[in-house]
Amino acid sequence: MNLIVGSEQVAPCRVFCVGMNYVEHIRELKNEIPASPVIFMKPATSLVPSGGTIEFPVHGHELHYETEVVVLIGRGGRPQTLQEARSAVAGVSLGLDMTLRDVQLALRPGGKPWELCKAFETSAPIGTFSPLTASLDLGNLSFTGSVNGVVRQRGTTADLVFSIPTLIQYLGGIWSLRRGDLIYTGTPVGVGPVKKGDRLSVEAPWCGPFEWRVA
Ligand code: MG
Repeated sequence: MNLIVGSEQVAPCRVFCVGMNYVEHIRELKNEIPASPVIFMKPATSLVPSGGTIEFPVHGHELHYETEVVVLIGRGGRPQTLQEARSAVAGVSLGLDMTLRDVQLALRPGGKPWELCKAFETSAPIGTFSPLTASLDLGNLSFTGSVNGVVRQRGTTADLVFSIPTLIQYLGGIWSLRRGDLIYTGTPVGVGPVKKGDRLSVEAPWCGPFEWRVA
């Protein structure tokens, strides 16, 4: 699938994700606030456009939604300042970092990699992107995530442990960023399980609503 930003289409490149980036969510999972961003990746083949289907994986039982602001990189390279990091952004959207919580809890004690709990097929539902304009404040993007029409998560990027420009600069210090890279910026408190047949939706004053069905 191509990503849609305004009237443009962008081929997705890498899908970076940030874990434990909202204090209240860190507390609900009984984790410590990290000293540096917690980064993992999903393959771009796990992206699902709005209106699509999230397949319930066969290798786990507790599938959780995590509503997240997602940043699309438009200008590649290695931003040296927070201002350069902001200018690397092409657009912002909302997505779901679908997570097999039971599998994650089993992997964690041995410090095993997270692919099985995070990077499975259809694990990265994604909306269409709102182009970054002067009126969009990356430091105060509010959003909600709902299951079957009931709001389960309310968040704002004002509460991020590591802000969007900080994340971009951090990632750019490790990888040379590319156009089409995505960053799932973390989820606020209120994560929970879904079952087959559930309808998951995300929306914000600045984008959406977007919706997926679990099957
Ligand atoms: Mg997440």
